[in-house]
Amino acid sequence: QRTQVVIVGAGPAGLVLGNMLRAAGIDCVIVERQARAYVEQRGRAGFLAPASVRVLEEHGLASGLLAKGQSHGTCAFRGEHGQFELNYGELGQRQVLTVYPQQFLVTDLIAEFLGRGGDIRFGTTVTGMHGIDGDSPSVDCLGPDEDTYRLTGEYVAGCDGQRGAALRALPAGAATSFRRHHGVTWLALLAQAPPSMEAVTYAVHERGFAGHMARTATVTRFYLQVPRGEDPEAWTDARVWEELRTRMRTEEFGPLREGPILERTTVDLNSAVSVPMRYGRLFLAGDAASLISPSAAKGANLAVMTARTLAAALTDALVGGDERGLAGYSEACLPRIWHAQEFSHWMINLLHGPVGDGEDAVFLRRLQHARLMSLRDMRSHQDHFAENYVGI
Ligand code: FAD
Repeated sequence: QRTQVVIVGAGPAGLVLGNMLRAAGIDCVIVERQARAYVEQRGRAGFLAPASVRVLEEHGLASGLLAKGQSHGTCAFRGEHGQFELNYGELGQRQVLTVYPQQFLVTDLIAEFLGRGGDIRFGTTVTGMHGIDGDSPSVDCLGPDEDTYRLTGEYVAGCDGQRGAALRALPAGAATSFRRHHGVTWLALLAQAPPSMEAVTYAVHERGFAGHMARTATVTRFYLQVPRGEDPEAWTDARVWEELRTRMRTEEFGPLREGPILERTTVDLNSAVSVPMRYGRLFLAGDAASLISPSAAKGANLAVMTARTLAAALTDALVGGDERGLAGYSEACLPRIWHAQEFSHWMINLLHGPVGDGEDAVFLRRLQHARLMSLRDMRSHQDHFAENYVGI
């Protein structure tokens, strides 16, 4: 089977890319390992930066998020110092974030792609790639009925994350993967409970970090820092709420609105950047190109932005015969990616101090406290924070 662009993965990156290519009249097929119902319910990110919203709006992909997304302009930090709020919508560039759960965005993007005549093969795994350094790259597909076939295109877009087929297809030495394991693990929770506060709230505690982020009127995301390798199932609802109450200091700041835990999973805070983001006719976008820890909520935004850049470059090549955009694709994306990685890394150091009473741990927690106090007290620091928090 032939198409112009084979896209592997129907997350935000693959779906934004597919929609933009269809709008330019380019044939493409999206191959997605999971079933449609699964990707339309997979709760992950929630915060979209103004730049992502603008890109989606400009390409006719934002009607759902403009109708149902909520604007957020405040975050709060709790700890032994008490609590302070940063009204980032009034600081820096005075911009706000839009809360729109990733699964809603994915659902909208799938409907739009199909409406634009797109072809998505759900339940189909890409098991291998061939000829990516030649003119006719192809991918091997294993369909839902164990059927196997080969899809050939002029280009392949690897939008299938860090564990996908695209990174596995890169020959040794084709790209360098710069990696960092930040040594922090989060238990990511979705609770059937309305948000307890208006603001995204980050709680710094000697037992570890806890976070609260609104998602919808009835579902809230919470995070708890846990030891690496922790079994999420060991965290019963009762244990989760007790720990959240402690770290969120509810005796001091008021109760949480509690409810059943709908989803519990652990996320190791890791980063990876692939340089370059291409090999031959295979191009990487989204998490496949750059994994970023969720500490600063940049992952879905980078997925949108890299997909937008790749869509423009592929359109120039396929419609206009101009390959300069593809040649400069990595250089166009990498400064933004490293900038986001830097801020995300800084957030990790802001939110996590080492646990324990050792000399090093206590010293590093003092530094963490000083960092927070600087953010509380210095306007220039607050402006810098706000610009980076909403920027991408
Ligand atoms: P994905 O969304 O991972 O999509 C890749 C797709 O490829 C998947 O659907 C997968 O099934 C498919 N696939 C993989 N291998 C194959 C194969 N061999 N064949 C076919 N298909 C394949 N980001 C934010 O911006 N803000 C947040 O608040 C935020 N919170 C997060 C919370 C959690 C718990 C997690 C896990 C992530 C969070 N992120 C957040 C990160 C964000 O969700 C990701 O960065 C984003 O999903 C990346 O999009 P993507 O399209 O590149 O990859």
